[in-house]
Amino acid sequence: RKITIAIDGHSSTGKSTVAKELAYKLGYLYVDTGAMYRAVSFFALSENLINDGQLDEAALEQRLKDINISFERDPETGTNEVCLNGKNIESQIRTLEVSGVVSKVASVSAVRSKLVEQQQRMGAAKGVVMDGRDIGTVVFPDAELKVFMTAAADVRAQRRYEELTKAGQQVQYDDVLKNVIERDHIDSNREDSPLVQADDALLLDTSHMDRDQQFDTLLHWVNQELR
Ligand code: C5P
Repeated sequence: RKITIAIDGHSSTGKSTVAKELAYKLGYLYVDTGAMYRAVSFFALSENLINDGQLDEAALEQRLKDINISFERDPETGTNEVCLNGKNIESQIRTLEVSGVVSKVASVSAVRSKLVEQQQRMGAAKGVVMDGRDIGTVVFPDAELKVFMTAAADVRAQRRYEELTKAGQQVQYDDVLKNVIERDHIDSNREDSPLVQADDALLLDTSHMDRDQQFDTLLHWVNQELR
């Protein structure tokens, strides 16, 4: 029996890392929905639909039909990388520039309905681990296993800071912390599908957990569900 696993939560809680590992272990499809919102944001930035931090929502809505998002498997790492209109942009979407606008882009209803529909198609076959903000509440409200991940903001910012620095990006810790807090605020307060823990989601607070502990907890929950 294959199930649908929805992993939601706050920014930089390590969702994608652990979700990816879990999908690999189970032989499931992994879908990083944050990468899809980031790809739309990358498009908006490239097409000058955002000026001085102001998003032209009407223009973005009009251009949505020109945005085709897909995933491409990297043969070396075996991970799915996001493509915008056929071009792999995975290495360009995790910058602070994109992070700085993505929550605004993700609060546009037309953007959400386009991506949610694609996500539902991608996960229709079961045997999927999908991570994001609204997977257990909107995309797959009937998912057999729902997890909500969180951690103290400074812990999350520190992890993200180390990740960005390791990737060679010049960033300040304070800017990363500010972005993490700001994104959570916008994600939790938007009108359309705000970030909230589903009633039937299991809470995973990773403030004091390393990656192995997070993974073991998730796997335990999966096995409980499959038993
Ligand atoms: O997961 P990640 O941090 O890459 O997501 C980037 C942003 O995309 C989030 O801060 C949120 O604004 C948006 N997002 C969303 N719904 C999802 C996934 C991501 O609104 N399912």
